[in-house]
Amino acid sequence: MDLSGHVAIVTGGATGIGRAIGMKMAEVGADIIVSDIDSDACQRTASEFAALGVRSAGIPANVTDPDAVGRMVAESIGQFGKIDVLVNNAGVAGAPGWYDHAVSREEDWSFTFGVNVKGMAIVTEAVLPHMKEAHAGKIVNLASVAGRQGRPTLPHYSATKAAVINYTQSLANELGRDNINVNAVCPGLLWTPMWGEVGAKYAVNDPTYEGLSAREVFDKMIENIIPLGREQTPEDIGDAIVFLVSDDAKNITGQSLNVDGGAFLN
Ligand code: NAD
Repeated sequence: MDLSGHVAIVTGGATGIGRAIGMKMAEVGADIIVSDIDSDACQRTASEFAALGVRSAGIPANVTDPDAVGRMVAESIGQFGKIDVLVNNAGVAGAPGWYDHAVSREEDWSFTFGVNVKGMAIVTEAVLPHMKEAHAGKIVNLASVAGRQGRPTLPHYSATKAAVINYTQSLANELGRDNINVNAVCPGLLWTPMWGEVGAKYAVNDPTYEGLSAREVFDKMIENIIPLGREQTPEDIGDAIVFLVSDDAKNITGQSLNVDGGAFLN
């Protein structure tokens, strides 16, 4: 796989899965714009990528703020001249403190839809004119296996990820004639800070996991629902995305790829 000469924006790219996606693309030669709400972390991660010998810049933006996103995209074009790849990775599991509440609150619904769905659309709309002008582009959206099937503990989050899968299909239909591929990846179980919150919620609200630590919930869930019997890693997601944005995937669009050890067969 070779992405030399490609320019990619990764939102929420400073930490976790986003950082691993950027790292995997940089390892095969892509130039990476790390965009994140956390400005310091953005710069630190961009420096790590630049150390691999590619061009990289940390350009912060809150994906829910159209003005900030517009500035981020304009600065990206100013520094790099084009955008070949957009990875819409920024995401949240709920409003701050969501995991302490048995039932999703209004703020969990609005905050999570604001970042995971509307934020994704805001960034996509800002990048699309440049891809359309170039008559080329690859977009990958981070969904989740939670979007494949609703589950009891975090309905607000699951609903956003189902929306991401649907949004991916709409975009793929709309943008095919512009030679823009749009796909989604559905990560399964990855031990990241986000899963620390998810595990805490299950331990309080799901009798199967009651009283366990977040990590124990995570390990038990792997045992219970993953046929391959092992956790997935941020690097697994990065590897899948390197393929989806490469020329080898030129005839794949509108798809949502589960990277989940076989947990969901759809
Ligand atoms: P994380 O919380 O570790 O990282 C998310 C990143 O997004 C952070 O760097 C954060 O600063 C940034 N971010 C948050 N809100 C933002 C905003 N408004 N604007 C810009 N940046 C913002 O999460 P993660 O586990 O790395 O998850 C990454 C993506 O993968 C998310 O979309 C998540 O829903 C999805 N996902 C994660 C898992 C998992 O098991 N961790 C499973 C399925 C899907």
